[in-house]
Amino acid sequence: MNNEDSLIHPLLKLAFDAMEDLVYIMAVQDRQFVYCYVNREAEVSSGITPDYMGKNFFELYSERNQYEMAQYLHNKYSKVLAQAQSIRFDEGHLLPTGALSGDSIISPIFDENKIITHLICVTRSYNERHRYEEKMQYYAYHDELTQLLNRRFLYEFVSSPAYLFMFDIDNLKYLNDTLGLESGDALLVEIAGRLKRNFGSDYISIRMSGDEFLIVSNREQEHPEKMAQIIISLMNEPFTFQNRQIKISISVGITAFSEDINISVALRRADIALYHAKTSGRNKYHVFCETTQYEQVVRFGYELALNSCLEKEELHLLYQPIYGNKQKQVVAVEALLRWHKDNKYMVSPADFIPVAEETGLIIPIGEWVIRQACRDLSIVQAKYGMQTKIAINISRIQLSESDFIERINQILKEENVQPHYIDLEITESVAMIDTVSEHSLLLKLREQGYTISIDDFGTGYSSLSTLTRLPIDTIKIDRSFVAQMNPAVLKALIAMAEALQLHVIAEGIEEADQWHQLLALGCDDFQGYWISYPMPLEKLPDLPHLPFSV
Ligand code: C2E
Ligand code: CA
Ligand code: CA
Repeated sequence: MNNEDSLIHPLLKLAFDAMEDLVYIMAVQDRQFVYCYVNREAEVSSGITPDYMGKNFFELYSERNQYEMAQYLHNKYSKVLAQAQSIRFDEGHLLPTGALSGDSIISPIFDENKIITHLICVTRSYNERHRYEEKMQYYAYHDELTQLLNRRFLYEFVSSPAYLFMFDIDNLKYLNDTLGLESGDALLVEIAGRLKRNFGSDYISIRMSGDEFLIVSNREQEHPEKMAQIIISLMNEPFTFQNRQIKISISVGITAFSEDINISVALRRADIALYHAKTSGRNKYHVFCETTQYEQVVRFGYELALNSCLEKEELHLLYQPIYGNKQKQVVAVEALLRWHKDNKYMVSPADFIPVAEETGLIIPIGEWVIRQACRDLSIVQAKYGMQTKIAINISRIQLSESDFIERINQILKEENVQPHYIDLEITESVAMIDTVSEHSLLLKLREQGYTISIDDFGTGYSSLSTLTRLPIDTIKIDRSFVAQMNPAVLKALIAMAEALQLHVIAEGIEEADQWHQLLALGCDDFQGYWISYPMPLEKLPDLPHLPFSV
C-alpha cells in the first residue's frame, strides 16, 4: 500500500491509472526524494511496487547496483527543486526493470505556503513514443488527402526504378470550376483508390502535386505504351459523385530509367514527355526519347509553370559569398535564384530566366528576388558582419522599366534596408548599350547609394571608351578568363580596372591555384566554388580555409 495513499483523491487515482503515461509522485524530505505514489503503468514498466514507497532513489537503485542511475535521477529532481520550475528531459533513462524510459517532465507541486512538498514526473512510455514516431514517419511520406506515397518518399527511397509513368488530368481547372473544389478533391481520392487497387507490388503510386500522379514501375516494361494505355483506360472509366457521372481524360508522360541518370533527371524527362503528350491532344501518352529536341515543349512547359511559380512558392535564393582580400572578410553575397518547378526538380536560372524575360514575368520575379534578398540581409550580416552587402542580378528588362528606381526604392523602404547594402549586377552586354537614358539611370542609382557591378566582364563587346564613361563601381571578371588563366590577359584587365578606379571581382575560382595566382595579380575580391558554393541562407559556411581579420 502507498503510505501516502490517502493524499491522492480517489478519482485522481483512477485517472492516473487510466493513463498510458507513467506517473511518479515523490515527496521532498530533507532534500531527498522519496517515492510517494506511482500509477499502474509506472509500476508495470519500472517494477516500482508499493513496497518501495517511502524509499529514496539510492535505496531503490543501490539494490540493483545502479548507483549512477540514482545519482542521475537525484540530480534531475534537485534541479527542479532549486529552480522551482518544470524541466523536461528526453535522453531516456534506464528503469529498474532494465527497460528504457521515454520523454519526461518533472514539475514541482507547491503547498499553500508556496513550499515545494512534492514533485510529479510524467514520462511518456517508450511504446507510446514509438507509435508517435511511426505516425510521424507515415505523415512524412504520405500525401494527406489521398494517402498515397509522396514526393519525399520518391526522393529518399526510390533509387533505380525501371520506368516512370507521370500523368495528370486534362482540363482539371474546368472540372474544378464545374464541380467545385470539394468534388475535385473527392476525384483525386478516387483516382488514388483506383491506383492502389490496380497497381500491386511491382509498382509504387505517388501523388506528386495537385492532380499530378506518378506510377513507378520496378518491373522492366517491354511495351511501356501498353501500360500507358492501361492507365488511360482505367482513368477513362466514369467516376460517380453525388449521383453524377464524371468522365475525365488524362495525359501520360513516360520515361525509362537508366544508371546514368538520377531521379531528378528522370522526373524532368517524364515531365517533358507529359507536356509533349498534352500538346499533341488530350488522352495521349508520349515516351521520352533522348535524341528528340524538345526545346519547344520545354519552353512551353516553363511558360505555363512560371506563371504560378511565385504563388506556389517555388522560388528560392541561394547565396554565394564574395571574399574581400583587403578586408579579410566576406564583403558581399550574391543572390542566385533557384526554381524548384512543381517542387519536383530544379530548373537552372540559365534556362528559365530567358523565358521569364520573354514573357515579362521577370518583372514580378525580379521584384520577389529584391524583396527576399532584403529580408535575408540581416541574417547574412549576422553571419559575416555588418559590412556585408547583397549583390542582386538585374535583368535588362527590369532596367528598361520606366519606374525601376521607384520600385526598387519602394521595396527597400518597405523592408527597411539602405541602398548602400545593395549591389546591382548587370551583365556587360546590358551595361554597354550606353544610351543616354541608361547612363542617367545608373547615375541616379549610384546617387541613391546603390553600387553597380558589371557582370561577366570580358564576354561582351565593350570598348574601352564606353567603359571609361559608365558610372559603375565594380567589374566582375567572367569565369571563362579565370578558367583560361592567361596571366597577361588578367593582368591587363586588372590594370585597366585600377586605372579607372574600379573594383575587381574574379568569378569562378574553383581551385586554390587560381586564387593564389589572382591574388598575386592584385585582384581585390574572389568568388567561386573554391571559396564557397552557392548555399541556402541557413547554411552559409564559415570558410575556415580563408584568412579572416578579427
Ligand atoms: P552569374 O550572375 O554569372 O552568376 C554566377 C553563376 O556562376 C552562378 O550560376 C553560380 O552558381 C556559378 N558559379 C559560381 N562559382 C562558380 C565556379 O567556381 N565555377 C562554376 N563553373 N560556376 C560557378 P547560376 O546560379 O546557375 O546562375 C546562372 C545565371 O543566371 C547567373 O549568372 C545570372 O546571370 C542568372 N541569374 C541567377 N539568379 C538571377 C536573378 O535573381 N535574376 C536574374 N535576372 N538573373 C539571375
Ligand atoms: Ca551575377
Ligand atoms: Ca557572372
